[in-house]
Amino acid sequence: MAARFVILGATGDLTGRYLMPAVASLHERNQLPIAGRIVGVGREDWDSERFRRHMIARCARHAAHVSTSARETMCGNLEYRRADVTDPDQLRRVLGDGGAPLALYLALPPAVAGTVLRGLSGIPLPENSRIVCEKPFGHDLASARELNALLRPMFPEHAVFRIDHFLGKQTVQNILGLRFANRVFEYLWTRDHIERVEITWDETVALEGRAGYYDTTGALRDMIQNHLVQLLCLVAMEAPLGFNERDFRDRKVDVLRAVRRFSADEVAEHTARARYTAGRSAGRAVPNYADEPGVDPARQTETFARVTLFIDNWRWAGVPFVLRTGKALATDLNEIVVHFRPVPHLAFEKSAPAVNVLRLRLNPDRMELALNINGCGDPFDLEHAVLGTKLQPQDLSAYARLLLDVFEGNAVLSIRGDEAEESWRIVEPILAGWSTNAAPLLDYPAGTEAPPERS
Ligand code: NDP
Repeated sequence: MAARFVILGATGDLTGRYLMPAVASLHERNQLPIAGRIVGVGREDWDSERFRRHMIARCARHAAHVSTSARETMCGNLEYRRADVTDPDQLRRVLGDGGAPLALYLALPPAVAGTVLRGLSGIPLPENSRIVCEKPFGHDLASARELNALLRPMFPEHAVFRIDHFLGKQTVQNILGLRFANRVFEYLWTRDHIERVEITWDETVALEGRAGYYDTTGALRDMIQNHLVQLLCLVAMEAPLGFNERDFRDRKVDVLRAVRRFSADEVAEHTARARYTAGRSAGRAVPNYADEPGVDPARQTETFARVTLFIDNWRWAGVPFVLRTGKALATDLNEIVVHFRPVPHLAFEKSAPAVNVLRLRLNPDRMELALNINGCGDPFDLEHAVLGTKLQPQDLSAYARLLLDVFEGNAVLSIRGDEAEESWRIVEPILAGWSTNAAPLLDYPAGTEAPPERS
C-alpha cells in the first residue's frame, strides 16, 4: 500500500547523502509507491522551494548515476515543513492527521530519538504506518531497551525498521548465497575446519567535520556494535528455514545470544582501542583527532577498535572472530577473511603449504579462495593459487534497497528489537571495561597500516 513518506531531520547529512539519492533512483525505476509529496522536516527557516534546490544540489553530487530529469522530477515533488520535532505540538502539526499510512523516517541525531518517540506516542497515526530508526539504536543497552519500550505500544514489530544499511549491501547478502546455496563450504564451516575469522572495516577517512556525532560515539559503537556484529551474524548463523522476517532474524539472534559476554579480564585480553594523531592518510594531511573542532579529548573517544569475540556454541566453540575497524588508516580495506585449519597430515616434504583462506572483499566486491596446488616444475613442490571472481555489482544502493523494503512493508533486513538489545549486551562490558581503562587508549599516527594493539 502506498505510504506518505515523511523525513524528520531532512536538512541533515544522511538525507542528502543517502536517502534522497536512493529515492531518486527508485523514482527513475518507477519503484516508488509513495502517496502525495515527500515531506522533509527540519529546523531551518526554509520554504519548499529552498529545500528542493538544496536536494537537487545534493542529488547532483550523490546520485550522479540517476538521470538529471529523474532527479529533478523527484526533487520537484518535495515539500518542506519547519518544526522542532522534539516539541509534540509541532510534531503533530507536521504529521497532519489521517490520510495514507505514514512511513516516518527518523534521520535525527540519536540523542533526540527518545524525545521524539515520546512526543509521537500522543499522536494518533493512520493504520499500517511504519517507522524507520537510524543507527545507532540507543547509546547502550538501557537506552535501546527504552527506545523499544516506547516503540512497542505504537508499532507492531514488523512495522519498525531499525536500519543497518550493511544488510542492504549486495555483497553482504552474497554471504548468504555463498553459504546456503552451495554444498562446498557449509560442511567445512565449523570449528573443526576453521581456525579464525577476521572481519575488517578499515577506512582512510578521518573525522571530516562529524565531531558532534562521532566524539560521543566512537568506533565501537559506530561500527562494531551494529555493522560488524551483523556481518558476524551472517558468517556464523545456522541455515534459516527461509529468508523471512521470523526465521532469518531468529537465527541471527541465536548467534548474538551465544557471543560471550566478557569479564573485565577478558576485555583487557581480547580488545584494543586507539586514537589517531596527526599524519597523512590517502594523500591528505590529517590533524590530530584530539585537536579537531568539537572534540573533547577528555572523552577518550577511540577512532580504532579491535575486539575478538567468541561464540560459545557447538559449531564455533574456541574460534576467534576478530572484528576491527578504524578511521584515518593507510588503506580502505573492507573484508571478511575465513582462515581454514592446516591439513591434518602433510605428505609434501619440500614446501610448506599456506592455509586455505576464503576472502570476501566488500568494497570493491570480490571473492577469493587461496589454495595449494602442485608446482609446474617439481610436482611435489607446492605452489599457491588464488581463485577469484568479481561479485555482481549492486544494481540498487543499500539505502534504496532498504527503503523499498520500508515502502513494501518487508522487515526481513531490519534489525529486530531483541536483536538490537543483544548486540548491546555484547558491547556493554567492553564499554564498561574501557571506562576503567581495562584496555588503555593508545595513539597511532594517521595513515598507519596497523595501530598498536598493546602498550
Ligand atoms: P546531521 O546532524 O547531519 O542531521 C540531523 C538532522 O536532524 C538535521 O537536519 C537537524 O537539523 C535535525 N534536527 C536535530 N534536532 C532536531 C529537532 N529538534 N527538530 C527537527 N530537526 C532536528 O546528522 P546525520 O544526517 O548525519 O545523521 C542522522 C542519523 O543518521 C544519525 O542517527 C546517524 O547516526 C545516522 N547515519 C548517518 C550517516 C551519515 O553518513 N550521515 C550514515 C549512517 C547513519 P538542524 O540542522 O537544525 O540541527
